[in-house]
Amino acid sequence: MAGEPQADCLFCKIVSGEVPATVVRETDTTVAFRDINPQAPTHILVIPKVHYPDAASLAMAEPQITADILREAGVVAAEEKIDGTGFRVVFNTGSGAGQTVFHAHAHVLGGRGLNWPPG
Ligand code: AMP
Ligand code: ZN
Repeated sequence: MAGEPQADCLFCKIVSGEVPATVVRETDTTVAFRDINPQAPTHILVIPKVHYPDAASLAMAEPQITADILREAGVVAAEEKIDGTGFRVVFNTGSGAGQTVFHAHAHVLGGRGLNWPPG
């Protein structure tokens, strides 16, 4: 069924606790944890507890949870004190754009200058 946990999905395993992560925030619908390979001084992933392969498919099926992710990105940025200097929220979508984990997630990046356009 759409949204159900997938046995072979790393982020579903983080949601269930089967794979450990440094969780910084959790809500009824989302989990936020530190990226294992940070690309900035602050690099946090915000994921839905439900499984969808990318942000666009999540938004089609679960608009409220998609909004929850954006809200949590802002809350985490404030808690990490990167909101004042600026932060970036990224949804890599598709392998050509660098997506490697096919469970929707927002990268929240900050704590250093961020170039535009990104690479
Ligand atoms: P993407 O390449 O956009 O799919 O992002 C996947 C992100 O997940 C990468 O930035 C990885 O460093 C990160 N990642 C992979 N495995 C883990 C893990 N076990 N705990 C935390 N972050 C992870
Ligand atoms: Zn998943």
